[in-house]
Amino acid sequence: MSVGAGVTAGIVATGSELLAGRVRDANGPWIAERLGELGVDVVEIVLVGDRPEEMESALRSLAGVDLVVTSGGLGPTADDLTAAVVADLTGRPLELDEHMEKVVGDIIARFADRLRWDADALAEANRKQAMVPRGATPIPPVGTAPGLAVPPGDGYRPTVLVLPGPPREVRGMWDDAVASGPVQELLERTEPFVETHLRLFGVPESEITGTLRAAGERADLSALEVVTCLRDFALEVDLRRRPGDDAAAAAHDAVVAEIDARHGSAVFSRTGETIDEILFGLLRGHTIATAESCTGGLLAGRLTEPAGASAHVQGGIVSYSNAAKAHLLGVPQQVLDTDGAVSTRAVQAMARGAIDAFGVDVAVAISGIAGPGGGTDEKPVGYVCFCVRTADGAEIVRDPVLPGARGDVRERSVVLAMHLVRRILTTGDQVD
Ligand code: ATP
Repeated sequence: MSVGAGVTAGIVATGSELLAGRVRDANGPWIAERLGELGVDVVEIVLVGDRPEEMESALRSLAGVDLVVTSGGLGPTADDLTAAVVADLTGRPLELDEHMEKVVGDIIARFADRLRWDADALAEANRKQAMVPRGATPIPPVGTAPGLAVPPGDGYRPTVLVLPGPPREVRGMWDDAVASGPVQELLERTEPFVETHLRLFGVPESEITGTLRAAGERADLSALEVVTCLRDFALEVDLRRRPGDDAAAAAHDAVVAEIDARHGSAVFSRTGETIDEILFGLLRGHTIATAESCTGGLLAGRLTEPAGASAHVQGGIVSYSNAAKAHLLGVPQQVLDTDGAVSTRAVQAMARGAIDAFGVDVAVAISGIAGPGGGTDEKPVGYVCFCVRTADGAEIVRDPVLPGARGDVRERSVVLAMHLVRRILTTGDQVD
């Protein structure tokens, strides 16, 4: 759902490798997010092959929007034709930009040995990349290819922002691209959206539909853009509205109130922060260790992803076998014999063992049946036991049956464990 008005945009990512499924489009979604932050309404992302006629037809199909952003096909080789196609379409003949010729020439000279091109080929490549549609603003390159901000032309209404393909270059050139005259002229007509990013854990997507319907009965939601999706096993609800729109503000308040009333305890973020970012903040001043079985160290890996994790992560033990659980974590043989390695008593002992082994103030233990084999009637595939324990004796124990195949069960276990750590650090007391 779009909130209408303002500036609209379409994105065209070119590259036959994208269509073949070999490379996943890293530019379209990234550019869409950046444009969204600027208050631009992205209405379409198109993937096309490398042929000029495909590019042209994609650009023509977007003739109704205000801004088209392209990525790819801008390099020095003969099959990189985006600039020529855009020049044709906007009726702006390509002209040599001497300053760009020098900038690109200096860059190419540095690559010359590696490229093994002869002097003529180099000069040709250099010249090709310095050709700018008349009236367009070149955007300095991060790799070898300059970008272009092309104002609307005869018979083609959108402003076209032409960027290279490599995602690193797109990101590196973005600020200059946005600051270019033709793009600024468009952005003057819009303001950044006012956004709220709610994150919920443990609420299925199907339930939020009912919640939104109920909010829709109390307020007109048409001026509010509501996007819901499941990511990393959390339900994301993004609300976006135009500043100064009272009806949209009322719709926003109605939706947030309905979500709070129905799922308040499941909301773990109101700013879009991920569970990783939230935990990182909560763990400040604490130490943590992991004791993992079915997740094989994935939780420790995830906790140590952010730079600076060493301030709180002390270590982890991957105790996959019963012997490892007994010897490394001190899980009593009797618990393993009577309750089994996948049991609440086993994870409680694992968490205690991790606290003792690492001297930490929070430990988290996971043991489960990830499948596809190994399930029983009593303990089916997906049965996973969790224990989060603090040195002062607070403890949360859970033993859900998680859905999905082996990979899902393992990934989901990691995320659930992170939410349980969040819970013990925010409630601080005995939950079970
Ligand atoms: P150059 O030819 O100078 O490298 P270019 O603008 O011509 O730049 P492409 O040739 O289209 O860009 O792509 C260069 C590299 O960037 C390729 O490895 C390609 O797979 C990668 N790439 C291009 N577009 C995308 C995209 N949308 N998402 C992810 N990778 C991309």
